[in-house]
Amino acid sequence: MSVTRCLILALTCGGLPLSAAAQAVSVTLDDGPMIDSTPLMTPTERNEAILRHLRDKGVQAMFFVTIKSGTDRPEGLALLKRLSDGGQLIANHTVTHPDFNAEGTSLEAFEHEVLGCDAVIRALPGYRKLFRFPFLREGAGEAKRDGIRAFLREQGYRIGYVSIDTSDWLVDQKLREALARHPNLDLTPWRQMYLAHVWDDAQAFDRLAKQLYGRGVMHVLLLHHRLLNALFLGDVIDMFRARGWTIVSPDDAFTDPAYQVAPMIPRLDGGVLETTAKALGVPLQPALAGLWPEHRVREEGDRLMVLP
Ligand SMILES: [Zn+2]
Repeated sequence: MSVTRCLILALTCGGLPLSAAAQAVSVTLDDGPMIDSTPLMTPTERNEAILRHLRDKGVQAMFFVTIKSGTDRPEGLALLKRLSDGGQLIANHTVTHPDFNAEGTSLEAFEHEVLGCDAVIRALPGYRKLFRFPFLREGAGEAKRDGIRAFLREQGYRIGYVSIDTSDWLVDQKLREALARHPNLDLTPWRQMYLAHVWDDAQAFDRLAKQLYGRGVMHVLLLHHRLLNALFLGDVIDMFRARGWTIVSPDDAFTDPAYQVAPMIPRLDGGVLETTAKALGVPLQPALAGLWPEHRVREEGDRLMVLP
């Protein structure tokens, strides 16, 4: 099917009632479970804290697993099982997190990455056949783009697209740097900065969704399995709810027609709303004007790092 046709189907046959689609967001966490060491918490404590936030708030999230983060070792596999047994959803994010747009990453090697992760996660109760590209890079050049789409389709996989792409991983990196210098750091300003960043990004992508579809979509928020969310995931959920958003399961969010697309641009890099807009020739500005670019996240982190 041509892109135009795919996209037109999504745009015109969406048919979701506005009430079901307006200001709804689902939570996804990538790259875990991580067993590296960080300040404040052990890997098990971080995993349990993330699970506790979700359980306390009654939220089902989806974890896009990267095997090399730790699931290839017994202690990492135990953390993954805790998430799945705890009612969370589990999906595929490769074995080693390669960049599919890089020239050195062949289609064949990338297919092995998908299958290798699948072999580890497929017996888990929360398993879903959704695949998320590392760095949200879905292929540079038609051969790789179309090749991986055909492969995923043959395997019964759908793409686990992202609509709200934040730089939480960078806030986490800055926070860990700050904690290494000042173990007794006041976490309050970091929490405030993180929430402001997520909120501004969510608003920006919601504007773009409304520009594309004339309605709110059921969003898919990209966060990561890191210390930052072990500390503040509950606050992120509370913030969305306090501002009138509904938290939905990723299973529900992925039924939104905004994720049934196949943008035919030659180099795919970024969230699905951006790539769809590019495929349709819809400008990203002014919708994304409030988005925090990475340099802003870095500057805010640096500013907090030198606070007394
Ligand atoms: Zn990732």
